[in-house]
Amino acid sequence: MRELKKSERIFVQSTESFPGGVNSPVRSFNAVKSMPPVIYKAKGPYVYDVDGNKYIDYVCSFGPMILGHLDKSVVKSINKILLKGMSFGAITPYELELAKLVREAFPSMERMRFVNSGTEATMSAIRLARGYTGKDYIIKFEGCYHGHSDSLLVKAGSGSMTFSIPSSHGVPFDLARYTLTAQFNDISSVERLFHQFKNKIACIIVEPIPANMGVIKPDINFLVFLRQITKENKSLLIFDEVITGFRLCFGGAQKFYKIEPDITTLGKILGGGLPIGCYGGKKYIMEKIAPEGPVYQAGTLSGNPIVMASGIATLTKLKDKKIYKILESRGRLLEKNIIKTCKRYRIPVSFNRVGSLFTLFFNDRPVIDYKTALKSDTNLYAEFFRMLLKKGVYLAPSQFEAGFISLAHTDSIINKTCKIFNEVILILNSKLQVAN
Ligand code: PLP
Repeated sequence: MRELKKSERIFVQSTESFPGGVNSPVRSFNAVKSMPPVIYKAKGPYVYDVDGNKYIDYVCSFGPMILGHLDKSVVKSINKILLKGMSFGAITPYELELAKLVREAFPSMERMRFVNSGTEATMSAIRLARGYTGKDYIIKFEGCYHGHSDSLLVKAGSGSMTFSIPSSHGVPFDLARYTLTAQFNDISSVERLFHQFKNKIACIIVEPIPANMGVIKPDINFLVFLRQITKENKSLLIFDEVITGFRLCFGGAQKFYKIEPDITTLGKILGGGLPIGCYGGKKYIMEKIAPEGPVYQAGTLSGNPIVMASGIATLTKLKDKKIYKILESRGRLLEKNIIKTCKRYRIPVSFNRVGSLFTLFFNDRPVIDYKTALKSDTNLYAEFFRMLLKKGVYLAPSQFEAGFISLAHTDSIINKTCKIFNEVILILNSKLQVAN
């Protein structure tokens, strides 16, 4: 690993243009106390910085790049439609083509609306749930992140957890009080709220597999319970599948666990690396959206043809079930090796993985919820992260962001990662012994 001279120069200049030098806080390296390399290109499983360093990329743009960077069929599809125009502000055949693929994967999304980000999708889904039920309160879970709209920035995960901002400044108290928070995997915390706010709860919004406090495995009974209690109370269940949609199978966590929500939100993989979001659900709920119904939501660039082209090519490829088997086996290979190494050197870790989505927590207890996630050793993670980066492996710059494996991460790339991981753990182990 070489120096980061050019990166440093660009980063310093960036801090003059952008708060913290970044256009999204999770890209900052503050939590791991180091200087971010400036990335200028990517291919397959790799990203490249301006100083000539190459990294095996487990950030994958925070999830979208499931096929790896610059997948040939995606690039071809984008190029083909690009030659026809960039944005029309009108109905296009491409939106319909992508919608058909989404419906095939998510039968619960009888109707949908494309938007430009996951934030827009969840914000609109909440508005729809309130408009449909005529109720104002919503329930979310501590440590789950659903984008940065005002109602959802309450006890959120992701960057707001990394930087300890439980509820963002700038969110009026009068609005935040309609967002009730419960504990993921804890039935009684949800029951209490339904009891206390009887007939006032519009919806529960949940990441069916939380991945923004690191990856937490859901107790399936808990998800089943969320489906039941929302039905019994005439509230809606929103599955935020911005990360999990198309990550675990062609159909998301709802297919994986066989639980049908009322509304689903998607993003990330759906756009194959270009900006997108989508929300959808049963026809009788979606018909409340303008221009059919009274719930307003709009977007100048929504359904953009280039984004649709990228999404169509990505989803078409993901229809092949073999892909998810391959991703699972690569995830398993990584997990097996990492656990073996950590056991050998007595480094306490909790490796949480579902398919190609994972988090390595430095924690001597299994991480099963928000509270145990918070007990992880973030300093140790930071040190581990910096050493890995130096040796060419790029994990998310926060203990609480998920890692992603793409189809371009072949067995040999995973084995190479494990070898580097082994070297880093060995150094970490001797440092820890000296410290003790
Ligand atoms: N929902 C979940 C589960 C997410 O992980 C994210 C972003 O990471 C969002 C919503 C917001 O998506 P976006 O960053 O595209 O606005």
